[in-house]
Amino acid sequence: MAQEDYYDVLGVSRDASDKEINSAYRKLAKKYHPDINHEPGAEEKYKKINEAYEVLHDQQKRAQYDQFGSAGVNGQGGFGGGAGQGYGDFSGFGDFSDIFGDIFGNGARQQHVDPTAPTRGEDLDYTLTIDFMDAITGKKTQVSYTRSETCSTCQGSGAEKGTHPTTCDKCQGTGYMTITQQSLVGVVRRQTTCDKCHGRGVIIEHPCQTCHGNGVVDGKNTIEVNIPAGIDNGQQLRYEGQGEAGKNGGPYGDLYISYRIKPSKEFERSGNTIYTTVPISFAQATLGDEINVKTVHGEKKLKIPAGTQPNKKFTLHGEGVPYLRGNGNGDQVTTVQVQIPKSINEKQREALVEFVKAGGGSITPQEKGFFERLKDKLQ
Ligand SMILES: [Zn+2]
Ligand SMILES: [Zn+2]
Repeated sequence: MAQEDYYDVLGVSRDASDKEINSAYRKLAKKYHPDINHEPGAEEKYKKINEAYEVLHDQQKRAQYDQFGSAGVNGQGGFGGGAGQGYGDFSGFGDFSDIFGDIFGNGARQQHVDPTAPTRGEDLDYTLTIDFMDAITGKKTQVSYTRSETCSTCQGSGAEKGTHPTTCDKCQGTGYMTITQQSLVGVVRRQTTCDKCHGRGVIIEHPCQTCHGNGVVDGKNTIEVNIPAGIDNGQQLRYEGQGEAGKNGGPYGDLYISYRIKPSKEFERSGNTIYTTVPISFAQATLGDEINVKTVHGEKKLKIPAGTQPNKKFTLHGEGVPYLRGNGNGDQVTTVQVQIPKSINEKQREALVEFVKAGGGSITPQEKGFFERLKDKLQ
């Protein structure tokens, strides 16, 4: 496949500034995000936009691309990492700042973090398995899980009521200390975790009895989860503040619920499209008929035109899975399976022979076997 020019993909000139690239990317990513744009090809376009952005917003990759084209960034001597980064899991619900947060994220981390500074808690993942139809109609349910919670006895300080943690005098609250060692090559200075406060930066002389000085305890959290109609396998919802407790008064992390959807016996789903099969007789296929077809929205009428061929697909518009953010539903595609009867009675047999003759043809029906004749006699 020919590689599209990354500048063309983002619609910017070759000398576009970083700001222009960022702004073009933001605009296009919003426009083609698969949860917003359901037009065919939108997802493909979205991937291309991300691929282009991955390269053009990075000074080094951009320079390589300018010099060598995509071979410079995809081939040897290029850089690793999939072009997919940044559109990740299509989490779909989190606001866009989530998506962009990853991309426009903070720079390099500082080597030493103040151990006494408020720190946000870890995010948690939870997989919720739901019934096929619940994913179509949507549902409210409850989710319970274990997480660390701020100790309510000491409000997270780790110190017993009426006492306070004190700054570690050995490391002055930094949590690390520098040790000097004599070696063959001279004096070596090395930084290591403070052995008095074990990196916490504070000393707790009277630890809280509930949390043993940790400031957090294991707790069971239950939240109400609103499963949106149309959710698909692998999609994620973010629940702010439902993750692990933060440290030193920092906020809770988030909970990410991933959905796993149980298969259905009657329906097959791909995105917003539902696929089914329905048996019809050869007489219905030949003469045409109106039949009832099961859809996720109940039984619907389907007109079978005269002369319908085996495995013909019929589209029932709007009878598929609801779009998450849009209006309306996807389609249902129903394939008809023309059934050939395994046995017929004598009257049907005669009628069929007549049917052939009426068309000007001839037919030599095969004799029934010994056992079939025996069975006929016994009936
Ligand atoms: Zn406590
Ligand atoms: Zn210390």
